[in-house]
This record gives sequence, structure tokens and C-alpha cells, in this order.
Amino acid sequence: MGTLICQACNKIIDHFEDEKVSVLYSSCTNCHKEQIEKENE
Ligand SMILES: [Zn+2]
Repeated sequence: MGTLICQACNKIIDHFEDEKVSVLYSSCTNCHKEQIEKENE
């Protein structure tokens, strides 16, 4: 099973089906919102 982790706050966002154990980094909804606000400044 794969794990999706927020690269900003290191919280586990979600799990996804995968043949091997793997980790993907993304942004959770809170951190994604902050990133968008920063980009708009
Ligand atoms: Zn986050």
C-alpha cells in the first residue's frame, strides 16, 4: 500500500493501492491553500 504525505506538514493525507510500499509527497488541502495564496502575492 502506498502512502500520500503532505510535504509541508508531513501529515498523512491518503493511502492508495500499490503493489509495493511507496511514499508520494503532495500537499494537503490546508497547505495547498496556503501555497496558492503565497503564489498570488
Ligand atoms: Zn499539509
